[in-house]
Amino acid sequence: MFVDSHCHLNFPQYADQLDAVRAEMAEAKVDRALCISTTLEEFPAVHALAQRFDNMWATVGVHPDNEGVQEPTLDDLLTRAALPRVVGIGETGLDYYRLGERTVADMAWQRERFRVHIRAALQTGLPLVIHTRMASDDTVAILREEGQGKVRGVFHCFTETEAVARQALDLGFHISFSGIITFKNAGDIREVARFVPADRCLIETDSPYLAPAPHRGKTNSPAYVAFVARQLAEVKGMSVEEVGRITSANFEDLFSLVKNA
Ligand SMILES: [Zn+2]
Ligand SMILES: [Zn+2]
Repeated sequence: MFVDSHCHLNFPQYADQLDAVRAEMAEAKVDRALCISTTLEEFPAVHALAQRFDNMWATVGVHPDNEGVQEPTLDDLLTRAALPRVVGIGETGLDYYRLGERTVADMAWQRERFRVHIRAALQTGLPLVIHTRMASDDTVAILREEGQGKVRGVFHCFTETEAVARQALDLGFHISFSGIITFKNAGDIREVARFVPADRCLIETDSPYLAPAPHRGKTNSPAYVAFVARQLAEVKGMSVEEVGRITSANFEDLFSLVKNA
């Protein structure tokens, strides 16, 4: 009934927990999960999940926060994107949250990395999984310029304003809400969730991070995407079944799962 559109099940937290995680998913009616890459080094482990389990898929990409890792060339992304059950490019984008001593100008390498991912999405036709934090203006501008209006994708774990949501929707992108919408102090994000049309919404956990209430602070699990669905249903005045049905259909449509059935 539900899809976790963004999780990191290759992380060490799940090393000997996958059977338990999958049992929890089944119990919570979470029947599918998309496993997201954050480096090329970890891609084989992410891809292995998608090959081992018929209800999991993988993406290829290098997260903007990751430094000191292999820098992806266009060819690196294209060769991996061509493998079976790889259905998206990312996560990629811009993150100016951890600038430290640096200025935005110093982050040219991040913007260039992002452009390489957009080119891979253009060439493959696969959707982009966008991570953006404290960088929405540049993220949208680069998407517009490099994507030529031809790339689709999702802004994951959305924590931006309604204005940014509007720009993302105008670009044809989906918006994914995480456990953050269940947090007491996240009234602003719930308002954005109310604004985004249901047929453009996805739900995710971003496991192992950001466990939703009532599990906040614990290791997250794809099963908990049901709590995100429940909150989104409340915000939208819909039934949780309806939210499950629509967000699952959106997921299938965006990631063209027919190709990878
Ligand atoms: Zn992210
Ligand atoms: Zn992530």
